[in-house]
Amino acid sequence: MFGERIDFSHEANLTIDELIKRIEAFQSDADISLIRKCYEFAEKMHSSVKRSSGEPYIIHPLNVAGTLVKLKMDQDSIMAGLLHDVVEDCDVSPEDISKQFGQSVAQIVVGCTKISKIKFKTKEESQAENFRKMVVAMAQDLRVIIVKLADRMHNMRTLQYVSKEKQMNKAQETLDIYVPLASRLGINSVKGELEDLCLRYLHPEVYYRLAEKVSMKRSERETYIRETIELMHEKMLEYSVRGDVAGRPKHFYSIYKKMTQRGVDFEQVQDLLAFRILVGNITECYKVLGIIHSAFIPVPGRFKDYIAIPKVNNYQSLHTSVIGPEGERIEIQIRTFEMHEVAERGVAAHWKYKERDKSSELGKLKWVEELMEFNQNVSSSSEFMDVVKNDLDVGGIFVFTPKGDVRELRYGATPLDFAYAVHTEVGNHTVGAKINGKMVPLKYRLKSGDTVEILTSKAQTPSKDWLKICKSSRAITKIKQYLMKIERDKNRDVGENLLDKAMKEFGTTVKAVEKKHEFAKLFDKHHYKTLEELYVNIGSGHVTINEVLASIPSIEFNEGDELKLKDENKELDTYLKKVTKSARKSSGNDNAVIVDGLDDIVVKMGRCCNPIPGDPINGFITRGRGITVHTKGCKRIDELEAGRRIAVEWNKEYRFNHPVNVKVVTHDKPGILSKISKCINNAGINIRSALARSMPDQKGSFIFEIEVKDYSELLKTLSTIESLEEVISVTRA
Ligand code: MN
Repeated sequence: MFGERIDFSHEANLTIDELIKRIEAFQSDADISLIRKCYEFAEKMHSSVKRSSGEPYIIHPLNVAGTLVKLKMDQDSIMAGLLHDVVEDCDVSPEDISKQFGQSVAQIVVGCTKISKIKFKTKEESQAENFRKMVVAMAQDLRVIIVKLADRMHNMRTLQYVSKEKQMNKAQETLDIYVPLASRLGINSVKGELEDLCLRYLHPEVYYRLAEKVSMKRSERETYIRETIELMHEKMLEYSVRGDVAGRPKHFYSIYKKMTQRGVDFEQVQDLLAFRILVGNITECYKVLGIIHSAFIPVPGRFKDYIAIPKVNNYQSLHTSVIGPEGERIEIQIRTFEMHEVAERGVAAHWKYKERDKSSELGKLKWVEELMEFNQNVSSSSEFMDVVKNDLDVGGIFVFTPKGDVRELRYGATPLDFAYAVHTEVGNHTVGAKINGKMVPLKYRLKSGDTVEILTSKAQTPSKDWLKICKSSRAITKIKQYLMKIERDKNRDVGENLLDKAMKEFGTTVKAVEKKHEFAKLFDKHHYKTLEELYVNIGSGHVTINEVLASIPSIEFNEGDELKLKDENKELDTYLKKVTKSARKSSGNDNAVIVDGLDDIVVKMGRCCNPIPGDPINGFITRGRGITVHTKGCKRIDELEAGRRIAVEWNKEYRFNHPVNVKVVTHDKPGILSKISKCINNAGINIRSALARSMPDQKGSFIFEIEVKDYSELLKTLSTIESLEEVISVTRA
């Protein structure tokens, strides 16, 4: 059994009885009746469906479980293999699986279902990103990945039954994601086979020519292998070393890789055969190497010592190439039986059936958590995992968006941190969160693998309490910024109102005083630069109205004098009524904005700030032109007379498109403008115009004028654009 290469070929006649026989061969205390129950459940669930091959569907889960048995995985993994498609394809609930077959089996199946929903990036984009997505699954239970590899293995094995297009897509995805993953986890038996299957579909011409070349001299080759094995045994026995020797044609993909790397063509392809020598201990490995190198001429530069320096996935072996019998170049790998176990099964070799407790401990290995709690002692069997973890650079937790995208967050992050990671506007309006479909409090601690859905409301705004909930510096900064702005806005409004009234009292206006530069003395003293700064400081009490008045040369007022302000301006009031009355007469149309509780007034939107439903707004009465609406933050408000302000609110019945400018800063990449445009259009949003500006540091900047129905649609569009890889920031301009 040791030293045999694992064969994963599709077994059309595999039955549950045969599977159980194989389990019992290496696992005497397996719960056979539970495994059988599991099979019967899966068979019943899939009974109405057939595979593309025409076979009953159950043959697929059976083969997946078969592969897991060959990898000698534990009982939970094998059961999960039998059930891996029932949640996705048959609407079975995870709770149901948990009840019947245990929590651990249910978790693996849920993990597999999640992975099948992940949108993997293509190979041009970062491989690390794909790994990270997989880590999300691994973080919960590494066995998820192994079951998924077994699943993919069988799908690749039976790929001939699907359309050509699907063949290409599946093969490419397998090569981009599953092969590196199998390699990373050290499961070389799976890796080698997947690679050859990928080659067969992606480069059939190469695959079939290699197959032809190898099979041309089939009987000759078999004789050659047999004789060489015998020769090696003899040489070893001369030095009283015993071991297993096996020979086989090399994997096609590894030949193909060599061909492309070295620019070699078919005729020049040499060492097609590989031999493997397995011995009892490391000393014997080096002894055998000496024997081989004295019996055959070594090819210079081909010796590699992976025993002294193991590969990152823990692979250990000696590699060499020699000129074998009849001048044929052959490759030889020398390792111990234990090293071979690891080489073939990788991380799967760490699941030891006999040690039940230990294996479940390994299964639950919370990679991420463990990494964070670094100081804890790690048992030797899981040290291998650490290598992988470090290599993948896992620094936090990984959660899913409802669409299956992955976000990385700090350990201990809450749904609010997630909301701010999506977009500031989403964060600012968060009212609640659903984790895996269930409502949770905002202070809930996210776990790797959680699917997070944020609920927002236009009416919601950040509060001070949120600062205690958030863990990420981004969220905390944004909340503080918001709170400061609110405070500032409030102070500005109060200050503006006070100063306006005071100026009127002395028969002048803020504008007139400013025109004569009579605020200069005060501005110099306090280092103010804008009128707004003055308003804010009056509002916050940092400067008193009396001090302001005393500093204006044309106003006769001493700081100690008493100032009385009239409360209402009756003149303005009458004017206002007049305007609203005539406006009401002239328009019968629906309006976006309700003035004074009425919705039939001529209202125009300020072109300077383009307010959209949901924005905080002010109305201003314009002589002869009805009412103009500006956002509360509009810069032009300073110029408009505060006294003409009128209360307005959005008309909730009104559905119409509003133009709004969106500024997008990106990494400068070719085609980025059309990519963003496409993204906006795909969201069903109309683009009125787009303007590109060049920026330093290889950044691109674009202004899009888009049409949205309301604020929440704008938010959605902003976060859609922000989700593009190249985008650095998206803001309303
Ligand atoms: Mn499947």
